[in-house]
Amino acid sequence: MLDEFMQSPAYVMACQQFDRVADILDIGQSERIRTKMPKRAMIVSVPTRMDDGHTEMFTGYRVQHHLSVGPTKGGLRYHPDVTLGEVAALAMWMSWKCSLCGLPYGGAKGGVTCDPRKMSRGELERMTRRFTQEMIPFIGPHVDVMAPDLGTNEQIMAWMMDTYSMHEGNPVPQIVTGKPVALGGSAGRKEATGRGVAYLVNRTLDNLNMKSEGTRVVVQGFGNVGSITAQQLHRFGARIIGVSDYTGGIHNPQGLDVNKLIDHTTRHGSLEGFVDGCETITNDELLQLECEVLIPAALERQITEKNVGKIRCRVLAEAANGPTTIEADSVLRQRDDIFLIPDVLCNAGGVIVSYFEWVQDLQSFFWTEAEVNDKLYRQLELAYQQVLQMAKKQKLYMRDAALALGISKIAQAKQVRGLFP
Ligand code: GLU
Repeated sequence: MLDEFMQSPAYVMACQQFDRVADILDIGQSERIRTKMPKRAMIVSVPTRMDDGHTEMFTGYRVQHHLSVGPTKGGLRYHPDVTLGEVAALAMWMSWKCSLCGLPYGGAKGGVTCDPRKMSRGELERMTRRFTQEMIPFIGPHVDVMAPDLGTNEQIMAWMMDTYSMHEGNPVPQIVTGKPVALGGSAGRKEATGRGVAYLVNRTLDNLNMKSEGTRVVVQGFGNVGSITAQQLHRFGARIIGVSDYTGGIHNPQGLDVNKLIDHTTRHGSLEGFVDGCETITNDELLQLECEVLIPAALERQITEKNVGKIRCRVLAEAANGPTTIEADSVLRQRDDIFLIPDVLCNAGGVIVSYFEWVQDLQSFFWTEAEVNDKLYRQLELAYQQVLQMAKKQKLYMRDAALALGISKIAQAKQVRGLFP
């Protein structure tokens, strides 16, 4: 099992990224291994009664990467391909992301291997409650705080909050973030990741002396992050010429009507069947469309050695976690024609507002959406400026600069805490 986890492609990729940056930072072997390896990795069985009466045994995972500066933080995903290795990689990326953005958290990620699209609401509720119950010995508002990720949403967080609160005997809203506002969720949390991506894309276009108006944008993935990013950029005057989801892609060089697309996916659950003057294309064709801004907002490992040479954008904004393989990345770092906004910076808006939600819950004092957005943009701007300066000063690739900032703070925290005992 351990071998399988260590060899999973996403985990190998996260370790290679780490090692490269640890070399740049000249982190010693002892600190390196302490900083890289996850603190805890849990596998739990999640027996769930299905609607037809039989019991299905799902497998659930949670990896807490480090607990050196505060609780761990990160999403929970429901997807058929979830493995321990994938979750461990995602937990590492959460650590670098939180550290880069100055959040007092270590990284974590969890998942249940299942296909939520094929499950009823009742089945999802029972599975979520049982998973939460199994996690109770390992989580807490000051230990590990979950949030939505791929295949999970506000409702799943509400069931988790309820299960944990029933166990404690009093409401504990701060056990999860990304909850409905009615349960202590933060205004603006649902939109935060997409808002952050759009903000950083606009800042980058500004820096490159390009205008938002008329900019051609392609978005892979039309879930919460992809759709809100598209909607925000559309509002700033960009032309969304291609989008895709698990059912395939659509293309319209004149620009798609994003609000109509969101209406369609809300009603039908996917982009399938959307016509309105556009042609259908494959996901691979979508990634190769000529555009100014390409935004992978789906799964990891989508930009590979096979398609990286065919990508035709000026800005690559990684809204997904780990969308570019190591092989593709070594090509990308040579391509001066593409400006990269790396994942740990690009999609950090989500966890930044999760942090605001946790703080509001702990204080029982809530902020308006305008306050949340203002604080979000300030925090993102600070991280963006730090990465730009680091990249410029040390002549580093944007990904290396972002990871170096995130990793160095954690390595330092571990070093000053010392080794126990
Ligand atoms: N799942 C999101 C991420 O990958 C958000 C995590 C959180 O808000 O804790 O960044």
